[in-house]
Formats: sequence, structure tokens, C-alpha cells
Amino acid sequence: MRIDALTLDFFRNYVHLQADFDPSVNVIYGENAQGKTNLLEAIAYLSGVSHRARYDRELIQFGVDSAFLKGEVVSRGRPFCLEANLYRGRGRQLYSNGVKLKSAGELSGVFNTVFFCPDDLSLIREGAAARRRFLDECICQLRPRYAQALSEYKRLHEHKIRILRDSEEKPSLLDTLDDFSLGMAKAGAVVIHYRAHFIRLLQQVAPAIHTDFSGGRERLTLRYETVSTVTDPEASPKELLPQLLAHQASHRQAEIASRSCLSGPHKDDLVVEIDGNLAKTYSSQGQTRTAALSLKLAERDIFCQDTGECPVLLLDDVLSELDQRRQEFVLNRISGGQVFITCCEDDRLGRLLQGKVFHIHQGGIA
Ligand code: ATP
Ligand code: MG
Repeated sequence: MRIDALTLDFFRNYVHLQADFDPSVNVIYGENAQGKTNLLEAIAYLSGVSHRARYDRELIQFGVDSAFLKGEVVSRGRPFCLEANLYRGRGRQLYSNGVKLKSAGELSGVFNTVFFCPDDLSLIREGAAARRRFLDECICQLRPRYAQALSEYKRLHEHKIRILRDSEEKPSLLDTLDDFSLGMAKAGAVVIHYRAHFIRLLQQVAPAIHTDFSGGRERLTLRYETVSTVTDPEASPKELLPQLLAHQASHRQAEIASRSCLSGPHKDDLVVEIDGNLAKTYSSQGQTRTAALSLKLAERDIFCQDTGECPVLLLDDVLSELDQRRQEFVLNRISGGQVFITCCEDDRLGRLLQGKVFHIHQGGIA
């Protein structure tokens, strides 16, 4: 999978950009605030992922009403022309080979990226929500059934939260509580089953990357933490269902008393440890970056193994805070598919990597 060419009009700080890329390595360098991250963001957008922006309007250039992105992509051996028109206040239109798409999910049916940016350090540093998001994004791209179950689960969860919240004023709402709990347990069992399988794959791939990264000095461990009554999260959804219902039953009164939803996989975590210590609490800056990057590189490897296609790797500012050996490891480890890597100066990367070098200056290629 690769992107051969990109056209941007009024996207972030790019008035107009036309770039042709190398099928292997593309080094994007330049001073701060010139548009390096914006360029990666544009490529990620065409894969259906909006990593940084909460709203499309943030992507449209200040003072302009619409933005345009076009990528010439090769996927499963076939060429695709992916386009996005973004309109301020009027939504967006997405196209693949001229055919209008219904959702960003259809873009990721064609083109996939794995984006590593400094915000991803939150994967290690922050609470469980960041790690659940990572799991959900990975599994949704691979398994449509998971995406369905997850969105059903989230819909019921929001509903149940509202019922619990409003039940003080309107106690009759509680009559519907058990129906929502049952629906959540059914969808939740599917969610847990898929998460457990994906984490098993991560356990097979990510620790080895992290060990190589640290020159054999560090051991990364990953553990799935889910609803406490679940004995084997990899069991079938049918086997998981009664265990989830038992947990819900034991928390029913507490949920009503606290008016919050206490039972279910919306509290799951992927526990990350380095040498037996919780990474969230104890890892150094370099270790945090190494562990987050190991998870992302594992995501790419799992995707390659599962689909036979390697997603495009977008590495934003990945080398800072890493010592020379870890930097060289990253640069050696990323070969395989197509890679975009940003940095502030090109000399080190230019020496270490073969590929095309782009100097970005004030929203253009200098
Ligand atoms: P750094 O090395 O600091 O990470 P960068 O080259 O990655 O810098 P970008 O994050 O790509 O920089 O941002 C470049 C510029 O784009 C910033 O100055 C930012 O203010 C500007 N920018 C962001 N959104 C828009 C927008 N919607 N319209 C115009 N300019 C924007
Ligand atoms: Mg940047």
C-alpha cells in the first residue's frame, strides 16, 4: 500500500501543494511551524483517520471557505484516486475513483496509515481511555464486526448513563434499565472477545520490538484488564455473556445508587509494564516513546500479517528524546512498507536513510 502523489488546496497552512512521493522512504524536514505535521495529517485524513483535528473546519485554511485533498494511492495492486472536499459549516464530500463515499470508514477500506505523533505518548502516560482508543482504532480497521459491536455498545452505554442520571427525577425510567444492561452485555461480550484476540497478537509482536529497541535491556509486557468476572476473555461471546451478566447483577444496586454505569468493557485497560513496573507511572521519557512506538510498529506488523498489505507509516517527530542507538534502531526497523518521517534537520536522516527528501518551508516544498 502506498501513496504516490498528493495535492492540497487551502489545507491548513498549504495554499497549494503538489508532491510526488517515494515508494519507500520520504523524509520531511524543516523548521518549526512550517507544515511538516500538517502534511502527514493530510495523508492520514485520506485513510479515514482524523488524528489531530476534532472538527474538519480546523483543517480548512484560516479565512477560506473550503479545502481540497487528493491522493493517488495504490492498494491491493490497484490505483485509487481518493479525494476530499471540506466545506466550512457544510460538511464534506469524499470520493474514491470519482464515486462518492458515504463515510470516512470507506476511505480506510481502501487506504490505511499508522500515524505516530508526539500525542501518542499519551498511550503510555495517560489513563485507560487513550489505550482503549488505540485498541478500538486498530481492531475497527481489521474487523467490521467489531466496529458494529462497539458502536452498538457505545450507543447503549450513553443511553444507560442518561437513564441512571435522570432516574432520580423520574424513577420509572429504571424499568428499562435491565434491557439496556442486557444489550450492553451482548455487545460487550463481542467487544471483549475481539480485544482479547487483538491483545494476544500485540503480545506476540510488540515486546520483541521493544526488546530490540532497547538493545535487549528492557522487557515490555502487555496485559488485558477487563470485567473482573471474566475468566478467559478470549472465550466465545456466548461463553462471556453469563459472566458479564453476573457482574452487572452484582453492581446493579451500586449503579443505581451512584447513578453511573460501573460494569462493562468501557472500563477496560491494556496494562503496559516495562521490566515489571507500570509504564504509566514509572517509565522515563525515552522508555515512554520506545513503548508507544513499539505498539504502533506492532500495529503495522499485525495489519500486514492479517491483510497482506502494509499500511503507510507516518512518523512525526519520532526521533527526539531517543539516544543514538534507539534512533538507529527505529530507522532500521521501519523499512518494509512506505514511510514518511519528519524531523527538524535533514543531515542525520539524509545520511541514514535512502529515499526522497522534502524541505518544507512556509506551507510549501522549498
Ligand atoms: P513543528 O516542527 O513545530 O512540529 P510543523 O512543521 O510540524 O512544526 P505544523 O504543525 O505542520 O508545523 O503547522 C504549521 C503551521 O500551520 C502552524 O503555524 C499553524 O499555525 C498553521 N495552521 C494550522 N492550522 C491552520 C489553518 N487551518 N489555517 C492556516 N494555518 C494553519
Ligand atoms: Mg510538527
